[in-house]
Amino acid sequence: MRIIFLLVLFFSSYVFVSAQKEDSLVIRIMADDILKNGKAYDNLFYLCKKIGARLSGSENAQKAVDATMRMLKDAGADTVYMQPCMVPHWVRGEKEQGIIQWKKNKKTLNVCALGMSIATPAKGIKAEIIEVANFDELKKLGAEKISGKIVFFNYHMRPELVFDGYGDAVRYRGFGPVEAAKLGAVAVIIRSVTYALDNNPHTGATRYDSTVKKIPAMACSTIDAEWLHQLLLKEKKVELFMKMNCEILPDVESYNVVGEIRGTEIPQEIITVGGHLDSWDLAEGAHDDGAGAIQSIEVIRALKASGIKSIRTVRAVMFMNEENGLRGGTKYSELAVANKEDHVFAIESDSGGFGVISLGIDGKPDQEVKLRSWLPLFRPYGVLDMPDGGGGADIGPLKKIGAVMCSVNPGSQRYFDHHHAANDVFESVNKRELELGALSMAAIIYLVDKYGLPPTQ
Ligand SMILES: [Zn+2]
Repeated sequence: MRIIFLLVLFFSSYVFVSAQKEDSLVIRIMADDILKNGKAYDNLFYLCKKIGARLSGSENAQKAVDATMRMLKDAGADTVYMQPCMVPHWVRGEKEQGIIQWKKNKKTLNVCALGMSIATPAKGIKAEIIEVANFDELKKLGAEKISGKIVFFNYHMRPELVFDGYGDAVRYRGFGPVEAAKLGAVAVIIRSVTYALDNNPHTGATRYDSTVKKIPAMACSTIDAEWLHQLLLKEKKVELFMKMNCEILPDVESYNVVGEIRGTEIPQEIITVGGHLDSWDLAEGAHDDGAGAIQSIEVIRALKASGIKSIRTVRAVMFMNEENGLRGGTKYSELAVANKEDHVFAIESDSGGFGVISLGIDGKPDQEVKLRSWLPLFRPYGVLDMPDGGGGADIGPLKKIGAVMCSVNPGSQRYFDHHHAANDVFESVNKRELELGALSMAAIIYLVDKYGLPPTQ
């Protein structure tokens, strides 16, 4: 009995070890191909330099749809198609102005309108500026002090937060205008949401509440925020003239782009890999999220080029409108529900094209145990961990219909230097880091496809 037990143990561990050996060879083949013959860097160059900013509803967004259709076909996808969805069409218009005026002095700030903001009146707004460090200070000042003024939210990203500084500070971009308007403010200017101390203003979506008056909102660079803070300590009365020319035009039809490799044995089970195609209008959207979109295309190319025949269906999705509406991600999951699709696994890359250090995962305990059993296969390529917490804005809704969630987690300390600002350009992405990110995505998809995961229900 004991001998049989030992034999079974030996045999099963032999099978496990030889399976891992075989898998490590397959991942090595994909790594060789991506690092030697990959197309991710060239494709990112095209998206950034030949097209550029790709805000939803713009001509460039449509060019990006057409270009990634071609790229997915070239990558070897069996089927490439578009999923129509209506998207918001916000335009910045003529460059904004923010001019500080005190006594007889003037200084022009580096500013940009927050995405989805309303414009100022055509002749601009001029009002006294009042600084608050946070929402508590705003509330303490109350309507008496805030009414008729422009509120300057000088909230610093908290340096002690290692990974969560953005999530903490972005509240001021999202909710600042509504909170200030509740107390009668006429406009808002925020310190850009970044740790970097430079002259780049960072945009990003703000939001309104239908029950609160809409007021215009802009961001200034962190250097200007520091300067303004010093000025306000010294001067009693400081005014800001701001002029913004943005506009929300009627919704337009746009598209998610999908490239699919149909599974050979269980095609009804779907694995999704994606990033978003739209990007803010101030830059090239290289890290956010040209990188993630292009890496998803590279997954398809690498699977095909390495001769892997997936038994499940693998879909690379270029989601439209993540930045100011999430209509593409929403449409994708609505169609998945309407078509009764079986989504088993979804992975998103939308945290920049920096070197990947971990893959975040979110599933049931037995699903996570299985995923983590593959971690040794990733270590040679720099992926050191599979922490709890996977997913992303675009794939998020697929969790409700049973998909195990995964996110690509690059080192994030430099990401917010570029995020939504003019320096999010192709040159800021490192070729090998971009490629190794694509490899980590291809490898996890190869393993999930080959072995499957324990069922969600
Ligand atoms: Zn993004």
